[in-house]
Amino acid sequence: MKKIERCYNCGKELKEGQSTKEHIPAKTMFKGYDSNYKANRITVPSCFDCNNEYSRVDEEFRNMIGIKARRKENDIITEKSVKSILRKDPCKSRLRYDMEGNVYGVEFNEKDIIDYHVKNFKGVFYYQYGYPLPDCYDITVNIDENDYSDFTLCTIGYLKELFNWKCSGHEDIFKYCIQPYRLGVINDSKKDLLLEEDEKVIVGGLVYNQEHAALVYAVRKDYLTEIEKIVTNEVLL
Ligand SMILES: [Zn+2]
Repeated sequence: MKKIERCYNCGKELKEGQSTKEHIPAKTMFKGYDSNYKANRITVPSCFDCNNEYSRVDEEFRNMIGIKARRKENDIITEKSVKSILRKDPCKSRLRYDMEGNVYGVEFNEKDIIDYHVKNFKGVFYYQYGYPLPDCYDITVNIDENDYSDFTLCTIGYLKELFNWKCSGHEDIFKYCIQPYRLGVINDSKKDLLLEEDEKVIVGGLVYNQEHAALVYAVRKDYLTEIEKIVTNEVLL
């Protein structure tokens, strides 16, 4: 029996002719790179709606990467980004100036950037496990580059020390690690852990262009409710 194909993002069943391919991360991230960087890029099945929905978000993220990029390979992406930003914002209201009137930065829509990471997290989840992330998970994204809290450092250590990271196309452009989050686990072989049926927390590290990173947590909604109850009880005691 043929396996039912589903959209990596909304989970909708895709009948024949309804499936499109979504690149993870978006193809815009590979502009200006030669074919060595584009081999084995990840694609996942997507419905038309989800595929269309993300093109604006893809562009916003590419623009942010382009503006921040410092490496020579990124010249084309930077040029495209500057054009795109000026086209979408002819009044230059998103540019930020210093006291002398020089541009020092561009403001980006944080929600778009967060959505971009959620999309890629769901994409690599589908690619790794073969089905969409179930609805029973809530997703949170941490993009705070100045977050040195114990919890965040612990999460980064967990992913970096216990597992092998993978990439889409080339690790300079996108590398990732997605695993169940089980503290205290020993994993000398660095193999991927299999998901339990009621896995409480799944965590993903996403690194783009060696310059921008996100930690994404998918937490089971019933587990969140459980934690909330414990916390509330502790406060009451
Ligand atoms: Zn969809």
